Amino acid sequence: MSEAFLPFTRPSIDEETIAAVADVLRSGWITSGPKVQAFEAALSELCGGRTVRAFNSGTATLEVALRLAGVGAGDAPKEVPLRDTVITTPLTWVATANVILEVGATPILVDVDPVTRNIDLNRIEAAIAPTTKAIIPVDLAGLPVDRDRLYALADRRGLRVIEDAAQSLGASWNGQPIGSAFGQGRGFVSFSFHANKNLTTTEGGALVLPDDIDTGLCERLRLQGVKRFPDGGMDVDVLGGKFNLTDVAATIGLGQMPYLSAFTARRRELARAYFAAINPGLGLQLPPADFANCNWHMFQPLLPPGVDRGRFIAAMKARGIGVGVHYPALHLFSLYQALGFKQGDFPVAEDIGRRTVTLPLFPAMQDSDIDRVCNAMLASLSEIA
Ligand SMILES: *Cc1c(COP(=O)(O)O)cnc(C)c1O
Repeated sequence: MSEAFLPFTRPSIDEETIAAVADVLRSGWITSGPKVQAFEAALSELCGGRTVRAFNSGTATLEVALRLAGVGAGDAPKEVPLRDTVITTPLTWVATANVILEVGATPILVDVDPVTRNIDLNRIEAAIAPTTKAIIPVDLAGLPVDRDRLYALADRRGLRVIEDAAQSLGASWNGQPIGSAFGQGRGFVSFSFHANKNLTTTEGGALVLPDDIDTGLCERLRLQGVKRFPDGGMDVDVLGGKFNLTDVAATIGLGQMPYLSAFTARRRELARAYFAAINPGLGLQLPPADFANCNWHMFQPLLPPGVDRGRFIAAMKARGIGVGVHYPALHLFSLYQALGFKQGDFPVAEDIGRRTVTLPLFPAMQDSDIDRVCNAMLASLSEIA
Protein backbone atom coordinates (compact mmCIF):
# COMPACT_ATOMS: atom_id res chain seq x y z
CA MET A 1 0.00 0.00 0.00
CA SER A 2 1.39 3.38 -0.94
CA GLU A 3 1.70 6.14 1.64
CA ALA A 4 -0.18 9.44 1.42
CA PHE A 5 1.39 12.17 -0.72
CA LEU A 6 3.79 14.34 1.31
CA PRO A 7 3.50 17.99 0.23
CA PHE A 8 6.43 20.41 0.68
CA THR A 9 4.32 22.34 3.18
CA ARG A 10 0.97 22.20 4.91
CA PRO A 11 -0.58 24.56 7.50
CA SER A 12 -1.42 23.32 11.02
CA ILE A 13 -4.78 24.73 12.10
CA ASP A 14 -6.36 23.31 15.26
CA GLU A 15 -10.06 22.62 15.92
CA GLU A 16 -10.28 25.49 18.41
CA THR A 17 -9.28 27.94 15.68
CA ILE A 18 -11.81 26.44 13.28
CA ALA A 19 -14.52 26.84 15.95
CA ALA A 20 -13.41 30.43 16.62
CA VAL A 21 -13.75 31.22 12.91
CA ALA A 22 -17.28 29.77 12.96
CA ASP A 23 -18.09 32.05 15.93
CA VAL A 24 -16.90 35.13 14.02
CA LEU A 25 -18.94 34.10 10.98
CA ARG A 26 -22.05 33.87 13.19
CA SER A 27 -21.29 37.11 15.06
CA GLY A 28 -22.60 39.54 12.44
CA TRP A 29 -19.20 41.32 12.10
CA ILE A 30 -16.86 39.56 9.69
CA THR A 31 -14.57 42.23 8.22
CA SER A 32 -11.97 44.38 10.05
CA GLY A 33 -12.90 44.83 13.70
CA PRO A 34 -11.99 43.66 17.21
CA LYS A 35 -10.21 40.48 16.07
CA VAL A 36 -7.86 42.51 13.86
CA GLN A 37 -7.09 44.79 16.80
CA ALA A 38 -6.43 41.82 19.07
CA PHE A 39 -4.18 40.27 16.42
CA GLU A 40 -2.23 43.53 16.06
CA ALA A 41 -1.79 43.68 19.84
CA ALA A 42 -0.51 40.09 19.94
CA LEU A 43 1.94 40.80 17.11
CA SER A 44 3.11 43.96 18.85
CA GLU A 45 3.89 41.93 21.97
CA LEU A 46 5.99 39.59 19.83
CA CYS A 47 7.84 42.63 18.43
CA GLY A 48 8.92 44.18 21.70
CA GLY A 49 5.92 46.50 21.98
CA ARG A 50 6.44 48.20 18.59
CA THR A 51 3.47 49.51 16.62
CA VAL A 52 2.09 46.86 14.26
CA ARG A 53 -0.72 47.15 11.72
CA ALA A 54 -2.35 44.16 9.98
CA PHE A 55 -2.93 44.01 6.21
CA ASN A 56 -4.54 41.63 3.73
CA SER A 57 -1.15 40.57 2.31
CA GLY A 58 2.57 40.87 2.84
CA THR A 59 2.80 42.54 -0.56
CA ALA A 60 0.46 45.32 0.61
CA THR A 61 2.65 45.97 3.67
CA LEU A 62 5.73 46.40 1.46
CA GLU A 63 3.92 48.79 -0.86
CA VAL A 64 2.59 50.88 2.04
CA ALA A 65 6.03 50.88 3.71
CA LEU A 66 7.57 52.30 0.51
CA ARG A 67 4.89 55.02 0.40
CA LEU A 68 5.40 55.83 4.09
CA ALA A 69 9.15 56.04 3.44
CA GLY A 70 8.44 58.62 0.72
CA VAL A 71 9.64 56.36 -2.08
CA GLY A 72 7.98 57.00 -5.43
CA ALA A 73 8.66 58.28 -8.89
CA GLY A 74 11.08 60.91 -7.53
CA ASP A 75 11.20 64.62 -8.26
CA ALA A 76 10.99 64.32 -12.04
CA PRO A 77 8.54 61.51 -12.70
CA LYS A 78 8.90 61.63 -16.49
CA GLU A 79 12.68 61.27 -16.43
CA VAL A 80 13.48 57.68 -15.71
CA PRO A 81 17.05 58.27 -14.45
CA LEU A 82 15.71 60.56 -11.72
CA ARG A 83 13.20 58.10 -10.33
CA ASP A 84 13.78 56.95 -6.79
CA THR A 85 15.66 53.67 -6.62
CA VAL A 86 15.41 50.86 -4.08
CA ILE A 87 18.01 48.15 -3.55
CA THR A 88 16.92 44.55 -3.17
CA THR A 89 17.86 40.96 -3.99
CA PRO A 90 17.11 39.07 -7.22
CA LEU A 91 16.58 35.84 -5.22
CA THR A 92 13.17 36.36 -3.63
CA TRP A 93 9.48 36.03 -4.31
CA VAL A 94 8.79 38.51 -7.12
CA ALA A 95 6.49 40.54 -4.82
CA THR A 96 9.58 42.13 -3.22
CA ALA A 97 10.59 43.82 -6.48
CA ASN A 98 7.08 44.27 -7.92
CA VAL A 99 6.14 46.69 -5.12
CA ILE A 100 9.08 48.93 -6.06
CA LEU A 101 7.67 49.22 -9.59
CA GLU A 102 4.15 49.62 -8.19
CA VAL A 103 5.07 52.87 -6.39
CA GLY A 104 6.80 54.21 -9.50
CA ALA A 105 10.38 53.62 -8.35
CA THR A 106 13.14 51.54 -9.97
CA PRO A 107 14.63 48.39 -8.43
CA ILE A 108 18.41 48.08 -8.21
CA LEU A 109 19.31 44.43 -7.74
CA VAL A 110 22.41 43.27 -5.88
CA ASP A 111 23.64 39.68 -6.21
CA VAL A 112 23.42 37.27 -3.29
CA ASP A 113 26.01 35.67 -1.05
CA PRO A 114 26.62 32.08 -2.23
CA VAL A 115 26.46 30.70 1.33
CA THR A 116 23.54 32.57 2.95
CA ARG A 117 21.76 33.11 -0.41
CA ASN A 118 20.68 36.51 0.93
CA ILE A 119 21.66 39.90 -0.51
CA ASP A 120 25.46 40.24 -0.42
CA LEU A 121 26.12 43.02 2.10
CA ASN A 122 29.61 43.51 0.66
CA ARG A 123 28.13 44.56 -2.68
CA ILE A 124 25.43 47.01 -1.55
CA GLU A 125 27.64 50.04 -1.05
CA ALA A 126 28.79 50.02 -4.68
CA ALA A 127 25.18 49.82 -5.93
CA ILE A 128 23.95 52.92 -4.06
CA ALA A 129 23.07 55.82 -6.40
CA PRO A 130 22.14 59.42 -5.50
CA THR A 131 18.51 58.41 -6.20
CA THR A 132 18.60 55.46 -3.78
CA LYS A 133 16.12 55.89 -0.93
CA ALA A 134 15.80 52.45 0.65
CA ILE A 135 17.00 48.86 0.94
CA ILE A 136 14.64 45.89 1.08
CA PRO A 137 16.62 42.94 2.47
CA VAL A 138 14.92 39.53 2.40
CA ASP A 139 15.47 36.76 4.96
CA LEU A 140 15.26 33.91 2.44
CA ALA A 141 14.02 30.62 3.92
CA GLY A 142 13.91 32.34 7.32
CA LEU A 143 17.69 32.87 7.56
CA PRO A 144 18.11 36.50 8.70
CA VAL A 145 20.31 39.02 6.96
CA ASP A 146 22.97 40.31 9.42
CA ARG A 147 20.99 43.10 11.12
CA ASP A 148 24.06 44.76 12.69
CA ARG A 149 25.87 45.21 9.38
CA LEU A 150 22.65 46.08 7.55
CA TYR A 151 21.66 48.94 9.84
CA ALA A 152 25.24 50.22 10.17
CA LEU A 153 25.38 50.49 6.38
CA ALA A 154 21.91 52.05 6.08
CA ASP A 155 22.72 54.65 8.74
CA ARG A 156 26.06 55.51 7.16
CA ARG A 157 24.39 56.09 3.78
CA GLY A 158 21.12 57.60 5.06
CA LEU A 159 18.88 54.88 3.62
CA ARG A 160 15.57 53.57 4.91
CA VAL A 161 15.38 49.83 5.63
CA ILE A 162 12.22 47.87 4.84
CA GLU A 163 12.87 44.37 6.14
CA ASP A 164 11.03 41.80 4.00
CA ALA A 165 10.56 39.34 6.85
CA ALA A 166 7.75 37.46 5.07
CA GLN A 167 9.62 34.23 5.76
CA SER A 168 11.34 35.04 9.06
CA LEU A 169 8.63 35.45 11.70
CA GLY A 170 9.92 33.50 14.71
CA ALA A 171 13.55 33.82 13.61
CA SER A 172 16.01 36.03 15.48
CA TRP A 173 19.28 37.87 15.09
CA ASN A 174 21.75 37.46 17.99
CA GLY A 175 18.92 36.51 20.35
CA GLN A 176 16.61 39.38 19.36
CA PRO A 177 13.41 38.36 17.54
CA ILE A 178 13.03 39.57 13.95
CA GLY A 179 10.53 42.43 14.13
CA SER A 180 11.92 43.89 17.36
CA ALA A 181 13.91 47.10 17.53
CA PHE A 182 16.94 46.71 15.28
CA GLY A 183 18.39 50.05 14.26
CA GLN A 184 16.65 51.67 17.27
CA GLY A 185 13.28 51.11 15.65
CA ARG A 186 14.09 52.99 12.43
CA GLY A 187 13.28 50.10 10.11
CA PHE A 188 9.99 48.87 8.73
CA VAL A 189 9.41 45.13 9.13
CA SER A 190 7.02 43.30 6.81
CA PHE A 191 5.49 39.91 7.62
CA SER A 192 3.31 37.70 5.42
CA PHE A 193 0.67 35.25 6.63
CA HIS A 194 0.15 33.55 3.27
CA ALA A 195 -0.93 29.90 3.61
CA ASN A 196 2.65 28.62 3.24
CA LYS A 197 4.27 30.94 5.78
CA ASN A 198 5.23 29.87 9.32
CA LEU A 199 2.09 31.52 10.73
CA THR A 200 -0.96 31.89 8.49
CA THR A 201 -4.23 33.79 8.26
CA THR A 202 -4.89 32.13 4.81
CA GLU A 203 -3.76 35.42 3.24
CA GLY A 204 -2.55 38.39 5.24
CA GLY A 205 0.37 40.47 6.39
CA ALA A 206 1.57 42.85 9.07
CA LEU A 207 3.77 45.93 9.09
CA VAL A 208 5.92 46.91 12.07
CA LEU A 209 6.34 50.68 11.97
CA PRO A 210 9.45 52.75 12.67
CA ASP A 211 9.12 55.09 15.66
CA ASP A 212 9.05 58.23 13.48
CA ILE A 213 6.20 57.17 11.19
CA ASP A 214 2.62 58.43 11.59
CA THR A 215 0.38 55.46 12.45
CA GLY A 216 -2.71 57.33 11.25
CA LEU A 217 -1.18 57.80 7.79
CA CYS A 218 -0.34 54.09 7.69
CA GLU A 219 -3.99 53.29 8.47
CA ARG A 220 -5.20 55.70 5.75
CA LEU A 221 -2.88 54.16 3.16
CA ARG A 222 -4.35 50.80 4.20
CA LEU A 223 -7.96 51.83 3.52
CA GLN A 224 -8.80 54.35 0.79
CA GLY A 225 -7.14 57.29 2.59
CA VAL A 226 -10.23 57.74 4.73
CA LYS A 227 -10.00 59.81 7.90
CA ARG A 228 -13.10 59.66 10.13
CA PHE A 229 -14.25 62.36 12.56
CA PRO A 230 -16.19 61.90 15.80
CA ASP A 231 -19.23 63.74 14.34
CA GLY A 232 -19.60 61.05 11.66
CA GLY A 233 -17.94 63.14 8.94
CA MET A 234 -14.96 62.04 6.92
CA ASP A 235 -12.18 63.29 4.69
CA VAL A 236 -9.78 61.68 2.19
CA ASP A 237 -6.40 63.44 2.06
CA VAL A 238 -4.20 60.74 0.52
CA LEU A 239 -4.68 57.97 -2.07
CA GLY A 240 -4.97 54.81 -0.01
CA GLY A 241 -5.40 51.21 -1.16
CA LYS A 242 -7.81 48.47 -0.13
CA PHE A 243 -5.52 46.50 2.08
CA ASN A 244 -7.43 45.75 5.32
CA LEU A 245 -7.42 42.30 6.94
CA THR A 246 -10.75 40.68 7.91
CA ASP A 247 -11.73 39.53 11.39
CA VAL A 248 -12.20 36.04 9.93
CA ALA A 249 -8.54 35.98 8.86
CA ALA A 250 -7.31 37.64 12.07
CA THR A 251 -9.07 34.92 14.09
CA ILE A 252 -6.98 32.29 12.33
CA GLY A 253 -3.85 34.31 13.12
CA LEU A 254 -4.85 34.58 16.79
CA GLY A 255 -5.37 30.80 16.86
CA GLN A 256 -1.92 30.22 15.34
CA MET A 257 -0.07 32.63 17.61
CA PRO A 258 0.24 30.38 20.71
CA TYR A 259 1.89 27.73 18.53
CA LEU A 260 4.51 29.93 16.89
CA SER A 261 7.44 28.97 19.12
CA ALA A 262 6.51 25.27 19.06
CA PHE A 263 6.20 25.44 15.26
CA THR A 264 9.67 27.00 15.03
CA ALA A 265 11.14 24.43 17.43
CA ARG A 266 9.65 21.57 15.41
CA ARG A 267 10.97 23.04 12.15
CA ARG A 268 14.46 23.24 13.70
CA GLU A 269 14.24 19.58 14.77
CA LEU A 270 13.22 18.50 11.29
CA ALA A 271 15.99 20.56 9.68
CA ARG A 272 18.52 18.93 12.02
CA ALA A 273 17.15 15.55 11.00
CA TYR A 274 17.71 16.42 7.32
CA PHE A 275 21.34 17.35 8.01
CA ALA A 276 21.83 14.01 9.77
CA ALA A 277 20.00 11.93 7.15
CA ILE A 278 21.11 13.42 3.82
CA ASN A 279 23.83 11.26 2.31
CA PRO A 280 26.83 13.47 1.40
CA GLY A 281 27.38 11.15 -1.57
CA LEU A 282 24.34 12.68 -3.28
CA GLY A 283 26.37 15.83 -3.93
CA LEU A 284 23.65 18.22 -2.72
CA GLN A 285 24.75 21.64 -1.49
CA LEU A 286 22.98 22.18 1.84
CA PRO A 287 21.93 25.52 3.37
CA PRO A 288 23.94 26.99 6.29
CA ALA A 289 23.32 24.90 9.43
CA ASP A 290 22.06 27.85 11.50
CA PHE A 291 20.16 26.60 14.55
CA ALA A 292 20.38 29.86 16.48
CA ASN A 293 18.77 32.46 14.20
CA CYS A 294 16.96 30.67 11.36
CA ASN A 295 13.30 29.62 11.69
CA TRP A 296 13.64 27.03 8.91
CA HIS A 297 10.77 28.38 6.87
CA MET A 298 12.14 26.16 4.09
CA PHE A 299 14.81 23.49 3.71
CA GLN A 300 16.50 24.03 0.36
CA PRO A 301 19.40 21.97 -0.96
CA LEU A 302 20.91 22.89 -4.32
CA LEU A 303 20.96 20.02 -6.81
CA PRO A 304 24.39 19.03 -8.16
CA PRO A 305 25.26 21.11 -11.26
CA GLY A 306 23.89 19.49 -14.40
CA VAL A 307 21.01 17.61 -12.77
CA ASP A 308 17.73 18.26 -14.61
CA ARG A 309 15.51 19.83 -11.93
CA GLY A 310 12.27 19.16 -13.79
CA ARG A 311 13.07 15.46 -14.00
CA PHE A 312 14.09 15.38 -10.32
CA ILE A 313 10.79 16.98 -9.26
CA ALA A 314 8.82 14.54 -11.43
CA ALA A 315 10.76 11.55 -10.07
CA MET A 316 10.09 12.69 -6.48
CA LYS A 317 6.42 13.23 -7.24
CA ALA A 318 6.19 9.70 -8.62
CA ARG A 319 7.46 8.56 -5.21
CA GLY A 320 4.80 10.57 -3.37
CA ILE A 321 6.99 13.54 -2.37
CA GLY A 322 6.19 17.18 -3.16
CA VAL A 323 9.16 19.37 -4.06
CA GLY A 324 8.91 23.14 -4.61
CA VAL A 325 11.06 25.79 -6.32
CA HIS A 326 11.62 29.06 -4.39
CA TYR A 327 12.72 30.88 -6.51
CA PRO A 328 14.15 31.41 -9.98
CA ALA A 329 16.17 34.68 -10.00
CA LEU A 330 13.51 37.31 -10.65
CA HIS A 331 15.48 39.40 -13.17
CA LEU A 332 15.08 36.52 -15.64
CA PHE A 333 11.28 37.01 -15.75
CA SER A 334 9.99 38.71 -18.93
CA LEU A 335 8.79 41.82 -17.10
CA TYR A 336 12.26 42.43 -15.65
CA GLN A 337 14.06 41.56 -18.88
CA ALA A 338 11.89 44.21 -20.56
CA LEU A 339 13.21 46.70 -17.97
CA GLY A 340 16.75 46.00 -19.13
CA PHE A 341 17.99 43.28 -16.78
CA LYS A 342 19.96 40.56 -18.56
CA GLN A 343 20.92 36.96 -18.02
CA GLY A 344 24.40 36.98 -16.46
CA ASP A 345 23.76 40.16 -14.43
CA PHE A 346 23.59 38.27 -11.12
CA PRO A 347 25.37 34.94 -11.66
CA VAL A 348 25.21 33.72 -8.04
CA ALA A 349 21.44 34.22 -7.79
CA GLU A 350 20.98 32.68 -11.24
CA ASP A 351 22.94 29.56 -10.30
CA ILE A 352 21.06 29.10 -7.01
CA GLY A 353 17.74 29.86 -8.72
CA ARG A 354 18.38 27.11 -11.29
CA ARG A 355 19.48 24.45 -8.77
CA THR A 356 17.36 25.10 -5.69
CA VAL A 357 14.65 22.70 -4.53
CA THR A 358 12.40 23.00 -1.49
CA LEU A 359 11.99 19.73 0.39
CA PRO A 360 8.98 18.98 2.61
CA LEU A 361 9.23 20.72 6.00
CA PHE A 362 6.27 21.71 8.13
CA PRO A 363 5.42 21.32 11.83
CA ALA A 364 3.03 18.35 11.41
CA MET A 365 5.62 16.28 9.53
CA GLN A 366 6.64 12.98 11.14
CA ASP A 367 10.26 12.04 11.88
CA SER A 368 9.79 9.05 9.55
CA ASP A 369 8.91 11.42 6.69
CA ILE A 370 12.53 12.61 6.66
CA ASP A 371 13.71 9.10 5.79
CA ARG A 372 10.99 8.84 3.16
CA VAL A 373 12.23 12.05 1.52
CA CYS A 374 15.89 10.98 1.72
CA ASN A 375 15.19 7.52 0.27
CA ALA A 376 13.17 9.09 -2.54
CA MET A 377 16.04 11.51 -3.28
CA LEU A 378 18.52 8.65 -3.48
CA ALA A 379 16.27 6.69 -5.85
CA SER A 380 15.30 9.74 -7.92
CA LEU A 381 18.85 11.02 -8.40
CA SER A 382 20.15 7.62 -9.46
CA GLU A 383 17.16 7.09 -11.77
CA ILE A 384 17.75 10.35 -13.67
CA ALA A 385 21.58 10.27 -13.61
C1 LIG B 1 5.31 35.52 0.72
C2 LIG B 1 6.30 36.56 0.42
C3 LIG B 1 5.94 37.88 0.10
C4 LIG B 1 4.54 38.32 -0.17
O1 LIG B 1 3.63 38.01 0.79
P1 LIG B 1 2.08 37.86 0.39
O2 LIG B 1 1.42 37.76 1.71
O3 LIG B 1 1.96 36.62 -0.44
O4 LIG B 1 1.68 39.08 -0.35
C5 LIG B 1 6.94 38.82 -0.07
N1 LIG B 1 8.23 38.49 0.05
C6 LIG B 1 8.62 37.25 0.34
C7 LIG B 1 10.08 36.95 0.49
C8 LIG B 1 7.68 36.23 0.51
O5 LIG B 1 8.10 34.99 0.78
